[in-house]
Amino acid sequence: MAGKRHVIVGGGTAGLNAIRTLRQSGDTGDVVLVSLEPPYSRMVLPYFLEQRISQSHVTTATPRQLDHWQVDCRIGRRVAGLDTQAGHLTLDGGDDVSYDDLLIATGSSAVRPPIPGADSPGVFNFWDLADAQAVHNKIHPAAHVVMVGAGFISFTILNGILQRSGRLTIVEVAPRILPRMVDDDGAGIAAKWLEAQGVTLRTGAVLNRIENRDGRLHLAFEKGEAIEADLVVMATGIRPNLDWLQGSGLEINQGILVDDHLRSNVANVYAAGDVAEARNRVTGSREVHAIEPTAMEHGRVVGANMAGKDVAYAGSLLMNIVSVAGLDMASFGTWDDPGADIITGLAPERSAYRKYLLRDGRLVGAIMIGRSQETWSDNDLGMLKGLVLSGADLTPWVEYLRNHPFEVKKPFLASHITGRLLPQTILGTASPPPAA
Ligand SMILES: Cc1cc2nc3c(=O)[nH]c(=O)nc-3n(C[C@H](O)[C@H](O)[C@H](O)COP(=O)(O)OP(=O)(O)OC[C@H]3O[C@@H](n4cnc5c(N)ncnc54)[C@H](O)[C@@H]3O)c2cc1C
Repeated sequence: MAGKRHVIVGGGTAGLNAIRTLRQSGDTGDVVLVSLEPPYSRMVLPYFLEQRISQSHVTTATPRQLDHWQVDCRIGRRVAGLDTQAGHLTLDGGDDVSYDDLLIATGSSAVRPPIPGADSPGVFNFWDLADAQAVHNKIHPAAHVVMVGAGFISFTILNGILQRSGRLTIVEVAPRILPRMVDDDGAGIAAKWLEAQGVTLRTGAVLNRIENRDGRLHLAFEKGEAIEADLVVMATGIRPNLDWLQGSGLEINQGILVDDHLRSNVANVYAAGDVAEARNRVTGSREVHAIEPTAMEHGRVVGANMAGKDVAYAGSLLMNIVSVAGLDMASFGTWDDPGADIITGLAPERSAYRKYLLRDGRLVGAIMIGRSQETWSDNDLGMLKGLVLSGADLTPWVEYLRNHPFEVKKPFLASHITGRLLPQTILGTASPPPAA
């Protein structure tokens, strides 16, 4: 029997991991990749801005690699429509691509607030490679950069902006920075740290208008003084790329609703990565987790299922980790669960903060902030993640953690979870390196 014709839409993290897994599992069916952009990793774009890597290093699969996997590539093409009854896609030029099974992995796009002048020359997003190139070309050591939005994505590029500009101001509409990543105490530590690095923070700031006046940008606010900038970077949120699925019959909420095999309500159509609303490992409910590890895991699970395996997905862990000018910040799981039992530790003199959220003695979420040079930070990050993922019972250690909130090593070792955390592979064998 001839192999299936697998069609993947989107060559980002989820799409590429699906293709790699399909081939690693020995599937010899046809693989067609339709992707607006060539395969690259958005997550490493901040390192390109920091000039730590060249542009070629953002690529995740070269044409040679795709050729080796025998992928029929339609790069630079946009999918405009899906007919799940007939089993085909319509591309922007009008031609059709038929499939036996389909993966939708079209990721997200950056969204700008609907304010006058938000699309002025000199105002950039930082979401795709073209944005990164534009900011890289425009930024200079004397530039005053204004970042609009103080969320996770803006924090991923702060190091690059700090290194390559003269002055940085961050404006945020919420009353504090990182409103969707850490709590008030955590944000307070991060704000102090940034101000000590010379960053100006303006929170609770409602931006009304941007004007380009002879190359200088003028930002006017509902209250308070206007700001003049050389360059504005907007990091004001993202939206999954789902518009093209209107009328397809797929069930969509925030993302495409998928089951534990990452199948949509149409059995031969899968979704993965930023567009999938899939199981949250901690809560069991379905959510969009627009982060790299989720896209990677989803892609691998779909690749295996497309290859005819029967792989169920345990769910993803919401996880944001960022390091800014020597301060590490991370949050995991349900870090803002109001119904959880909470243990905190705050050491402002060391810019250190811990918050543990437990339900029935099990860690369901955590916040961790500390200086990068303190060697515990990497280790503790791994241990906290392990404790959330394993669901180990920490009841005997609750009192200890309350008295020693910065000491997770003892409870971690006593929970004997390292064996359970050994790499679990989707295909049942060790994974070859990414290039294989
Ligand atoms: C600057 C930056 C830093 C980040 N840092 C981190 C981090 O530190 N940690 C973390 O976990 N996550 C991070 N992320 C988020 C992470 O990159 C995304 O969650 C991840 O890329 C999602 O993978 P995906 O495969 O779902 O989508 P993407 O990687 O976005 O790929 C989607 C692909 O689909 C294509 N496409 C879109 N629409 C169509 C269409 N209609 N037809 C055909 N092709 C289409 C796109 O061109 C693209 O190739 C960062 C993102 C950015 C921008």
